[in-house]
Amino acid sequence: MSKEVVLVVEDEESFVEALRVGLAREGFRVEVARDGVEALTRFDTVRPDLVLLDVMLPKASGIDVCRQIRKKSQVPIIMVTAKSSEIDTVVGLEVGADDYITKPYRLTELVARMRAVLRRSSVDSSAPVAGLGPSAIEIDGITLDPEVHEVTVDGAVVTMPLKEFELLHLLLANAGRVVSRENIIDRIWGMDYVGDTKTLDVHIKRLRSKIESDPSNPTRIVTIRGLGYKFDKPR
Ligand code: CA
Repeated sequence: MSKEVVLVVEDEESFVEALRVGLAREGFRVEVARDGVEALTRFDTVRPDLVLLDVMLPKASGIDVCRQIRKKSQVPIIMVTAKSSEIDTVVGLEVGADDYITKPYRLTELVARMRAVLRRSSVDSSAPVAGLGPSAIEIDGITLDPEVHEVTVDGAVVTMPLKEFELLHLLLANAGRVVSRENIIDRIWGMDYVGDTKTLDVHIKRLRSKIESDPSNPTRIVTIRGLGYKFDKPR
């Protein structure tokens, strides 16, 4: 099996060296870009399986780089923030990253997150099949097919980053039942999630903007105050 290629975009030499050694030991092939502009050119030549992207970079910010990459690729992107307050910025700006990690972090935690996003994205590379796969869900004009990572809303294909896709998947799979905020965060972001719960609100808002006809008056994903969220099944 060929090694998975990680593009590390990082300007701090100590991090670059630690990641080169640490990730190589974990079986990854490590490519490095040291600023935002180099990140985009390296991305095109290296064609990485995953991008580890620092937010604060010379020349172009990690947020800009993430947006540029998203215009052409659904490659998994993990953003690296220097402080947890940046997480809100990264999430709030809807840049389309798959996960976030805050410096300082442990290599084991980073690798676990990398493996998780790689596992989730591996369905993307499979050839699309006609029609809906056996695990597809179809409720109230929404279809979600995990095998081809595709969502349609009233017949139109809607693109969404992995976290939004997983969130919708979780809510659809539990349609008609309330899923608690804690449960959602555990399932989608993991028990050791370090950000605050605003991240969930932002993702719910994004999902609503994509699947609700009036996002400010949602009828599909409804808020159950004090409890969580529910995908409302039509009766
Ligand atoms: Ca930096």
